This record gives sequence, C-alpha cells and structure tokens, in this order.
Amino acid sequence: LPSADPPGEAGRAMTHSDFGYLSSQAAAVTPRVNDEPLVSDLVPQALSWSSLNGLVIGDKNHKRSGTVPGIGLVHAPFSLLPSPFPRQAFSQAIELAPLFNLLADRVSQDAEFLQQTLARTRKADHFIARLLDIHLQMLDEGMKQKIRLGLHRSDYMLDTATGELLQVEINTIASSFPALGSLVASLHRHLIDWCGDGLGLEAENVPQNGAVDAFAQAFALAWKEYGDNRAVVLMVVCPEERNMYDQYWLALKLFQSYGIKMIRKSFTQVLAEGTLGDNNTLFIGKQVVSVVYYRAGYSPDDYPSESEWDARLLLERSAAVKCPNISYHLAGAKKIQQELAKPGVVERFFENKEDITKVRSCFAGLWGLDDENSAAIIEEAIRNPEGFVLKPQREGGGNNIYGADVSKKLVELRDTDGGVGLAAYILMQRIFPPVHPAYLVHDGIWSCEETVSELGIFSAYIRNGNKEVLNTEAGYLLRTKSSQTNEGGVAAGYAVLDSVHLI
Ligand code: ADP
Ligand code: MG
Ligand code: MG
Repeated sequence: LPSADPPGEAGRAMTHSDFGYLSSQAAAVTPRVNDEPLVSDLVPQALSWSSLNGLVIGDKNHKRSGTVPGIGLVHAPFSLLPSPFPRQAFSQAIELAPLFNLLADRVSQDAEFLQQTLARTRKADHFIARLLDIHLQMLDEGMKQKIRLGLHRSDYMLDTATGELLQVEINTIASSFPALGSLVASLHRHLIDWCGDGLGLEAENVPQNGAVDAFAQAFALAWKEYGDNRAVVLMVVCPEERNMYDQYWLALKLFQSYGIKMIRKSFTQVLAEGTLGDNNTLFIGKQVVSVVYYRAGYSPDDYPSESEWDARLLLERSAAVKCPNISYHLAGAKKIQQELAKPGVVERFFENKEDITKVRSCFAGLWGLDDENSAAIIEEAIRNPEGFVLKPQREGGGNNIYGADVSKKLVELRDTDGGVGLAAYILMQRIFPPVHPAYLVHDGIWSCEETVSELGIFSAYIRNGNKEVLNTEAGYLLRTKSSQTNEGGVAAGYAVLDSVHLI
C-alpha cells in the first residue's frame, strides 16, 4: 500500500472525492490530497462540536486533568469520518450480543468450570490467583445478592482472509466508552449533515448509538430490582482517571433520566468510608449503595497495596448488586475464552444447536499453553510468530505480544522453571482486518493513515434469581487505529473513537 500522507495541522485541504472510498468497497484506495478546503472546514467543525458536546478526555499535558473535572480537557481522539463496515457483519455482531450475555452468565454460575479452567493459570499469575481466592471465599460465605448485572462489550474484527467476523475478546468488567462512543456517532452524523452531499456519505448509514442511554437504563433497572428508593449507585474509579468524562456522562444520564444518583469512590475511599450494615447492606458514609459499578479493579495496578484488596472484598461481600461480581469478572478472562473455544465446551452451556453454531462461528483459533497437547502449537508459533498473538490474562490494552517477540517469549517461558509460566498466557490466531484510509484526529492535529477497525458491541444483562429482567445489545463502539499498530485501546493511546458507515 502507498504510505500515508504526513500529518497536517487543521487547515489542510482535499477534494470531496477523497471521501468517495467510504461509499465504495475500495478499502485499499489511498485518498488524494489537493487544494479543496474540505478538511480545513471539517476538522475545526469536528473539534468545536466535540468540545461543545462533551466528547472529551483529560489532557495528559495537564497535571490535574485526571483528578479535577473541568480542568485540562481535550477532545477525545476520533476519526474525522465514519469507517466503512459491512452491514451484514454489523447485524451479526448485534445478534450475538444476547447470546454472549447468556454465555457469560452461565459460565459465571459454573464455579467448578471457572476454578478448574484457571487452576494452572493461578500458579503462574498472582493477580488471577487473588481473584480466584475472592471467588472461593464468596462461594464459601454464600453470595448475598441474587441480582446479576452484566454490562459487557464483545469486540470483533473482520478477517480479510475469510471475510468472517471474529471475536477478539469479551469484556465483562469496566467496558469503556459507552458515552464517548455514542457521541462519535452523533458527531459523524452532524458532519455528514454539515457537508450535505459533499462527502458521498449518508447519515442514515451511521446507526444511532444508544450505548450511554442503554447503560443508564440498565443501572436504573438493577437499582429498581434492589428496591431501596434511598439508594445510590457507586462507581468505583481509579484515583487518577483521564477518561472521567465517559464516566460522568453515565452519572448524568442516570440522574437526568431516572433521578438516581451515582457517586464516585476509589478503593481507598471505599475502605475509609464503606461499612456493611444489617444483612450486609453496603453503606458509603450514611448512603445506602444498591449497585456497585467497577470502572477500576481489572488491573493489578489498581491494587498497589492490601487496602485495595480489602476494599474489593468489602464490596464483594456486600448485598449490593455488583457490576460485575467476582464470577462475571472471572468469566471474562482470556483463558476462559480459550477454553470455550475447545470442542464441546460451548455445549456445556447451551442446548440450542443454532445458538451454539452462531456463537462458534465468531471464534478465532485459540490455544492454551498448559496442557499435554500444547507442545505442537508452541512449536508452530515459535516458527511462525506473525500468525499469532500471545496474550496474558490482562485488560485495558498494551499487554499482548506480537511478531518476533512471540517466539522470543515462548522460548523463554518454555525453558524457564519447567514451563510453568506458559499457563499465564494463551495463543490466539492473529486476525488481519481489511485496511482502509482514514483521517485520524489527535490533539487537534489530523493525519491521513491506512487503518484497521475493531467493532465492539455493548450489551446489558440483568437477572434476579431465576427471572431474566434484561438481555439486550446496548449500542456499539468502533475503534480505528493505524494498520501499523499491533495493539488496540483508545485510553491506552493506540486507537481513536469511530463509528460505522454501513456498506
Ligand atoms: P485487552 O483486554 O487488553 O483489550 P485484547 O484481547 O482486546 O486485550 O487485545 C488488545 C488489542 O490487541 C485489540 O484491541 C486488538 O487491536 C489487538 N488484538 C488482540 N487480539 C488480536 C488478534 N487475534 N489479532 C489481531 N489483533 C489482535
Ligand atoms: Mg480489548
Ligand atoms: Mg479486554
């Protein structure tokens, strides 16, 4: 492919036809740049829209931007225009959402499956071991709350080789960008309206994205099931969080639409202010908490000392609805994803053959490194590392291993301590998504790059005992990054927020 154009300040120009690729399938066409003032018109339009509509994050150049709201804001990185995405694959991903909700819920209820599947990983991964210990303790004490609330995001990429939609992973904790993702779709529809026919795009081909409202609704329903009108929702947050506006949006929507308050506390604050009352009712100060929503706690970095673990345990033991509870958290582990891909394992959780086929159809190749049959795949990945991604049990982006490093790491793991460390990782078939040109805007500066996209489908699930209260897709997130970048993740700085233009 031709190399990408050099980055430009807002003000660089190109023709309308530069955007024509979006309505065609010609994904590999690099747009031409000439003197028509389209980008110089669109970029400031997009930047001002973002600021005026809260499509913002904390600016890393500003010291207090992660702790004080309203200080040091910058627009969230975005793609100037929506990226082409096949309509059929989009529908397929949406259709899968309720099935993955059920799968996560059923896996979460199978304590033996969780503990056994992660038994070897536990020995190689201290963080997973801690989570498994909390799980065991909860099983022992009995989980006090029968209401389950899942807010998930299942992520997919298109595989160029086969044209298939393949699942990258499912997130069962702290799935981020429901709000900023919704806003980007609105931004794109606005820019298309602004340009009239100039772009060759149709606003109606950019699906409305209701993720933020769907999340607010799920909190409200879980709150209602809990049944205490005085109660608040607690969002557990990192002490420093530059993605706070995505979170504040949820709190605002919840209050505006349902009159329910959401408070924010770090683990440290939870430990200082949290208590359990009668029947393990959770209090923060004098406030009853009915729902605990974790936007922290998925990474070992969130537990710098024993206090944070004590706070996590306090929340888990409480009668509040946890989103997620420890079982849901574990069900989202990459090791579990890999185990589910083994022959016959989905069948443990689903009876309906059609459902099984649908779920299986999006599984990429996944391999564990901790059993008798692993030697062959390890050898193959050492020989052909470009065909694989090596993944530890971590979340949040920036943790996977690619390319030549896969061989190096596998050899190192295999040859150290009899290979016990292998169990901390899984191998996944590397997906090569179709490449398309896009205008990425970071820090007010745009660049034209060859990019790839990852589609996330949010979903919401609520069960109260045996009663299913909610099981639905809940909007989407498209993330787009340079095709030269291995890792993904907007917060981690690799990708930008985007929306789909269905083709
Ligand atoms: P995390 O939980 O940290 O988000 P992911 O499994 O989603 O972990 O991996 C992070 C990123 O790495 C993804 O967003 C994607 O860009 C890239 N990635 C992960 N798995 C694959 C794969 N099998 N093929 C290609 N890229 C992948
Ligand atoms: Mg991911
Ligand atoms: Mg993840």
